Parts: sequence; C-alpha cells; structure tokens
Amino acid sequence: MTVQQEAVVQGEALEVWIDQDLCTGDGICAQYAPEVFELDIDGLAYVKGGDEELLQAKGATTPVPLPLLTDVIDSARECPGECIHVRRVSDSVEVYGPNAE
Ligand code: SF4
Repeated sequence: MTVQQEAVVQGEALEVWIDQDLCTGDGICAQYAPEVFELDIDGLAYVKGGDEELLQAKGATTPVPLPLLTDVIDSARECPGECIHVRRVSDSVEVYGPNAE
C-alpha cells in the first residue's frame, strides 16, 4: 500500500499548503475546491483558514476537510505549478504533491 492509500484508509488528518513561489495563478485549485483555495489580488493562490481568511504566511497550512479530500487531491494533481502540497498532520509526510513518494 502506498503512503497515500495508507493515509486515506486510516482516516488520518491531512493539511495542505501552497508554495506561492511556483504558483502560475491559473486558478485551477480555486475552481476545484473554492472552500480551501482562493486567488488573492496579487494573482496567486492561498489556502484559507477556518474563518475564510487567506493565510499568507509562507508555508501556512490549513486542514483538509474529509468531504473535500478528492477535490484537494485533484487540485494537487492538476496544479501546473506543482506547488500544492498535501501532508499528514501527524508526521508532516507529504502524501499528495510534488514531494510525495
Ligand atoms: S492550481 Fe497551482 S498554479 Fe494554479 S493557481 Fe492553484 S496553486 Fe497556483
């Protein structure tokens, strides 16, 4: 079983962050999961906190709600900048994204 499958099967908490240095600003992530991702006026995508506020600190993470897991994974897969990182909260291992195994 891959790390990705294990994380999903075990229902582990996941979080997501965006490397804005590589973001192309195309907005694919915000189309897939607008509850999690949004473009700011600088044209780059950011993750949202629980209060809908954009988290602009470098490497800021937000929890991935289970009902949105597929949308967030699709965003990471389709992201042309390869800059969406989904990782396990417990040990920070990336399970979807450019650094996943
Ligand atoms: S899909 Fe990737 S490159 Fe496109 S806006 Fe979202 S984070 Fe940026």
